[in-house]
Amino acid sequence: MRDDTSFCGVCGAARASERPMPAPGGPAAQAMPTEQPIEPGQAPEPLSATEQSQELDTELVDPVVTAVEQALTTSRQGSVIGRLVLFVVSLVLFFIYAKMGNTHTGAVILVVVVLIHELGHWLGMRLLGYRNTSIMFIPFFGAAASGVDPQPSGIKHAIVSLCGPVPGILLAIACGAAYYATGQPVLRQSMHMLFFLNLLNLLPMYPLDGGQVLEGTVFRRFYMADIVFRVVMGLLLAGCAVLLQWKGLFVLVFFVFTSLPSRNRIGQVAEALRGMIPVADRANASRVPRQWLIQIIAMLQARMKRPSTAVAMLASECRAVWERLCFHEPALWATALLLAFYVGMMVMGTIAWVVFTVFSR
Ligand SMILES: [Zn+2]
Repeated sequence: MRDDTSFCGVCGAARASERPMPAPGGPAAQAMPTEQPIEPGQAPEPLSATEQSQELDTELVDPVVTAVEQALTTSRQGSVIGRLVLFVVSLVLFFIYAKMGNTHTGAVILVVVVLIHELGHWLGMRLLGYRNTSIMFIPFFGAAASGVDPQPSGIKHAIVSLCGPVPGILLAIACGAAYYATGQPVLRQSMHMLFFLNLLNLLPMYPLDGGQVLEGTVFRRFYMADIVFRVVMGLLLAGCAVLLQWKGLFVLVFFVFTSLPSRNRIGQVAEALRGMIPVADRANASRVPRQWLIQIIAMLQARMKRPSTAVAMLASECRAVWERLCFHEPALWATALLLAFYVGMMVMGTIAWVVFTVFSR
């Protein structure tokens, strides 16, 4: 989505190290770190932010860097009213879309089920200290909750991802039990919709919640495994889209494959810089210090066939690289616990859906 260059992980890495670094701007080129592999067990010499800024401040800063810096700042300052308007307008559009293929009751149930799911994510983000949280509905697809985590961690990422489907599955069980007791058809319809959408979201596919749980617990550690997993899941998703003839899934497939070159670049740059950023500079994941921003932009551009100056794309990739550098990987016990809970919810939800379907006939 961000880049239309063809993707090859191995060739991409080789290309980046073989050719000389481009000079997107004088200072950026001067600030480029040498990408010598770091010996295992040998701590790299941290590049002090102050030391670098002394040299950089005397130079003219590339206008692209300034524009990216402004884009990063602006996107952090999204207004509450703007997010609220987007939520309401997208909700109305989604309801109109839902009405096209459903009865009035079916459309209302669909919107409420999606809203409960996204409110779960939103609440999880708010409780865990995310900023700029928002919910947006997407016709043909569903909805998405987003927010900025100033101190990203795998545990928080996985918990927020589970906060959407878990309440939905528990509510589905409650609806199933209530239908069993009362026989109200609306409860049966709600139960099926809750089980379907929330279990679907738990599938281990990007960008569904199950894929996000795996990303937070496993794939942030090994970016090449993440790329391979995305390719495999993209192909599976394409198969599901064809089988189910679901337009929304085609959108996901498009997103998965077009974002691969960008994901690969982000992973490579984060790997190259890992261990080089002093702890003090990594204190806030939502603010990239200028001297590191200059380096990240140059390194990203070095991995493009034609170094791009598209500000929105560079800002997005710079943010992703910086978040990876500030990311706290979960301990092994936390990883095991989160994965066990994730698998447990999938198994329990599936069994409950089958049982209620059989007994609610
Ligand atoms: Zn979700």
